[in-house]
Amino acid sequence: MKRLTILAMLVAIGGVSIAVKAATQSAASQPSAAAITVEKVKDNLFVLRGGGGNSAVFVTATGVTLVDTKNPGWGAPLLAKVKTLTDKPVTMVINTHAHYDHTSGNVDMPAGVDIVATEMTAKLMTQMNPVAGLGPQPNVFKDHPGKGMPKRTFKDKLTLGSGADRIDLYYFGPAHTGGDAFVAFPAHRVMHVGDTFPSKALPIMDKNNGGSGVEYANTIRKAVKGVPDIDTIINGHTPANTTPADMTEFADFVADFVAHVQAGKKAGKSAELVAKEWATPAKYTGFSAAPQIARVTAYVNVIFGETK
Ligand SMILES: [Zn+2]
Repeated sequence: MKRLTILAMLVAIGGVSIAVKAATQSAASQPSAAAITVEKVKDNLFVLRGGGGNSAVFVTATGVTLVDTKNPGWGAPLLAKVKTLTDKPVTMVINTHAHYDHTSGNVDMPAGVDIVATEMTAKLMTQMNPVAGLGPQPNVFKDHPGKGMPKRTFKDKLTLGSGADRIDLYYFGPAHTGGDAFVAFPAHRVMHVGDTFPSKALPIMDKNNGGSGVEYANTIRKAVKGVPDIDTIINGHTPANTTPADMTEFADFVADFVAHVQAGKKAGKSAELVAKEWATPAKYTGFSAAPQIARVTAYVNVIFGETK
């Protein structure tokens, strides 16, 4: 009963926040190649920002690999932007996770493109469940039956290509979702981490899509430790790249939030009160203030549910 009430509350809150989001998305974010910015990380590796999650473009000897394909309607502008960087065709897409702002452009990719994700992400893309704390997701896959779904999946690790073109894919456990992939380009010492470290702010702990609050920090620490020789991190939503040291600091920040929530639960406080009592600790410089209380409360409830 209590579970159902919380769920109904989350759905109601989510509906409001989606409506607010839609209302604030002005003409400036209409899909267009011009609205996508390009950062050159290496001669054949770029970050394309705008229109959803940050995409990586990796130009290999055999074709272009894209990591994440942005919001609904942004697949074609993304392809147009890639054309300004190389004549080679897009031959592979890797999705870091299932959320619509990282996968929706999949349906606009060329026929025969190889789409790769974790087993869990492939499963979640057939469901597109509402996001914990945010609400329903747009579902382009429903409107494009059979298009844009991953055909190649992996559980813990997968290596694609070799030499300078090698890409190493890893899964270290639940965090932002239950299918978060870490995408390493070892020749360049760069790793795309999707929304496991989306920005320096309280992250979405999407329990509805297999994510976890309690495991979150542990999972990203495993990624920092388990992928050797990385200097540069491409994040899901930051305006600039970060470093493994930033990611470790972010793990500490998430762990501090979880400790705050668990102490509140132990003291018998309500989720609302625990959320209200959370403020970004001063030592985390450059981190955003806490998001709106409804979202914090949603993640408090995720952690409450995971804490015996
Ligand atoms: Zn996400």
